Amino acid sequence: MSTEPSISHQDTLRVSVLSEALPYIQRFAGRRIVVKYGGAAMVQEELRDAVFRDLALLASVGVQPVVVHGGGPEINQWLGRLAIEPQFRDGLRVTDAATMDVVEMVLVGRVNKQIVNGLNQVGVRAVGLSGSDGSLVRARPYGDGDHGLVGDVAAVDPAVLRPLLDNGYVPVISSVAPDSAGRAHNINADTVAGELAASLQAEKLILLTDTPGILRDRHDPASLLRQLTLSEARALIAEGIVEGGMTPKTECCIRALAQGVAAAHIVDGRVPHALLLEVFTNSGIGTMVVGSSRTLQND
Ligand code: ADP
Ligand code: MG
Repeated sequence: MSTEPSISHQDTLRVSVLSEALPYIQRFAGRRIVVKYGGAAMVQEELRDAVFRDLALLASVGVQPVVVHGGGPEINQWLGRLAIEPQFRDGLRVTDAATMDVVEMVLVGRVNKQIVNGLNQVGVRAVGLSGSDGSLVRARPYGDGDHGLVGDVAAVDPAVLRPLLDNGYVPVISSVAPDSAGRAHNINADTVAGELAASLQAEKLILLTDTPGILRDRHDPASLLRQLTLSEARALIAEGIVEGGMTPKTECCIRALAQGVAAAHIVDGRVPHALLLEVFTNSGIGTMVVGSSRTLQND
């Protein structure tokens, strides 16, 4: 009687996929990848679960992910419940003291803990922080100061993250930080992610959003710009091709790269497993911004 085990096609496929990931796993093990988490990937249950599993996979093969999150829809829901009207200027929320109370409660209290819980459930040891913790981020008023308590990043001190990362914890950071007087400010999460990536000398900055990437025509997904140099990215802002919420994304990619981050990616978070596609495949997805010379994706 034969007792030969039968290996299914599916098993063979699974093993070959794993094996093909080996060079990427080896390349990124021990490296830091800062992920800005937001948009549909945060709202839709299936996408959210896929992001958590992707982060778990990255962490378990020795990559050190750092998560920075926004909180868009949930903040608006709570502002609505409390009858506070949300206001925007240049893609950024104008934040008075009452709004800031809600932003802080929702982002630091609720959204942050939901992400931490979700990650813990798939076996990640996640730790929630805001800019206040360990004086991680200090804010200053954004621009000319007429956006109320909207902040920009004045300084980053990543010291609190090092012992966490060294011990296998995944930091989950909400983009609220105090100014020098201790007043909480709301900072665009892309901007925080970019500055953290720079201060951690991260291998990659990955911004998950709800577009395929930077589009030459923002209404045409087929006009995706797959790879840009720093100067090309700057030109797109100057020409007005990049606008609104894409501006802080593109700017933070430029700043992170100028400060030594190897590659910055703006990626479609509506694609399941967008993170793994970006880290573990050669073609990558979305828009990649690189230093000066053109290189192959993931090189
Ligand atoms: P997130 O919530 O992920 O931060 P935002 O809404 O702040 O996303 O920013 C993304 C938005 O930027 C897109 O939905 C689009 O409306 C706008 N945008 C402006 N210029 C471009 C461009 N050139 N390519 C793609 N999106 C653009
Ligand atoms: Mg935005």
